[in-house]
Amino acid sequence: MRFLPVFLDLKTGPVVLIGAGELLRAKLRVLAAAGARVRVHAIDRDHELGLSAEDAARVEIATDDPLTADLSGVIAVVCAGAGDVGIAMSARAKSLGLPVNVMDDLEHSSFIFPAIVDRGDVVVAVGTGGTSPVVARRVREKIEALLPARIGDLAEFIGSFRKSVNERIAEFPLRRRFWERVIDGPIGTAVLAGRKAEADASLKAISDPSAFARADKPEGSVALVGAGPGDPDLLTIKALRALQDADIVFHDELVSPEILDRIRRDTTRVAVGRRVGKPGIGQDAINKRMIEAARSGQRVVRLKGGDPFVFGRGGEEVEALRAAEIAYSVIPGITAGLGGAADFEVPLTYRHEATRITFLTAHKARDAEAVDWSTLTDTRMTVVVYMGMTAAPSVRAGLFAAGRSPETPVGVFARVTRPDAQSAIGTLRDLPELVRRIDGGPAILIIGDVVRHAGTLRRQTLKKNSAQIISDLLDAAE
Ligand code: SAH
Repeated sequence: MRFLPVFLDLKTGPVVLIGAGELLRAKLRVLAAAGARVRVHAIDRDHELGLSAEDAARVEIATDDPLTADLSGVIAVVCAGAGDVGIAMSARAKSLGLPVNVMDDLEHSSFIFPAIVDRGDVVVAVGTGGTSPVVARRVREKIEALLPARIGDLAEFIGSFRKSVNERIAEFPLRRRFWERVIDGPIGTAVLAGRKAEADASLKAISDPSAFARADKPEGSVALVGAGPGDPDLLTIKALRALQDADIVFHDELVSPEILDRIRRDTTRVAVGRRVGKPGIGQDAINKRMIEAARSGQRVVRLKGGDPFVFGRGGEEVEALRAAEIAYSVIPGITAGLGGAADFEVPLTYRHEATRITFLTAHKARDAEAVDWSTLTDTRMTVVVYMGMTAAPSVRAGLFAAGRSPETPVGVFARVTRPDAQSAIGTLRDLPELVRRIDGGPAILIIGDVVRHAGTLRRQTLKKNSAQIISDLLDAAE
């Protein structure tokens, strides 16, 4: 380690800040966020510092020369955009034994600023020994993405109960286990989900904190997680976090291998979904296994394609978890219809043309016959059909019966958001033929005037264009 990370209390003495322009203002914001008292020497005489009234109260503007000014009581010196004055100031500060930072100048600095993740009481500082602030910022972005937004609330929550728990549990190791169980269990989950009142009540309901801490089994929970249509980068940050935290994941067959790759390596994976022609283990058995795993203290993820509450039987699973009194949460995902629309540039609504959307399922012809097609007569309604490949002829018949024109634009969109995504676009008349052109599911159908705007052709054209551009360049080079 070239530098030791420490957290400084800057409220006591003034920090002298010397510099100019936006660099000066940026450093001032960082110092103000830490509640520092700051004495500013703006060498460009621009005193427009853009601070809030509250921060401005702790800032004084100095007009004398920083190289000769009285530095008694000063606790640190920071130079940002100060040019040669910064270098001279560094020598002066060092001779006085004052910590000094000259921005982007390791040689003249005795301390450096880390990249900071600021979540209230939780602060993460990332440093690279001053070698590469850009790398530090990239690391910070990764941490930003992984840290729950309300991690600061969690620290504050624990802080607010700390005294009373200290009084009730004398031994330090047991106290630590108490907090670990709180953080890892449903109470921690509730705080991170913003349900503070519920977390407060649950913590107060623990009548014997020592016994709670001693319990050998952690409290298990289940997260119903939407995996989206296939592209792993379309996972939500919450979903990714759940996959990283899980002890066991029960996943559908539909979930892509790239997404399974995002699960922590030592996590148990169990495929439970059915596939056409291959029976799965059945919904009751899935519920039973999830509940058993949670009761044994595991953090369970039930990972489903798309969104758990869109044709995903998430509702039934939630009911089973409620009945079994298992703590659970639901994390939404991008449903196939939305993924397909974005991937193939079909705007599901369009001014004047499409003013509502219906998502329906037509698993088998039998199911398609059970659909009340008379509700789909409105030509300004976009219809998105899930599980509609084999039932395509019945879907067509139903929409004809609803009075939809054979010329209605239709798209079949397969394996959307995956590298091998495929589309077939035509009219309602040709729907069964369009389905035949697809090399395999899963696929959704989108039916309605908006399909006219689909971007497949344009994307192909773009590809052709870039190939054309390259060959033109080669020609020109010859
Ligand atoms: N809960 C899922 C839907 C499950 S039903 C969701 O919200 O997306 C299964 C159907 O979803 C498939 O028959 C197909 O119609 C659709 N589907 C799922 N993944 C898809 C994908 N990558 N591309 C196209 N359709 C998909």
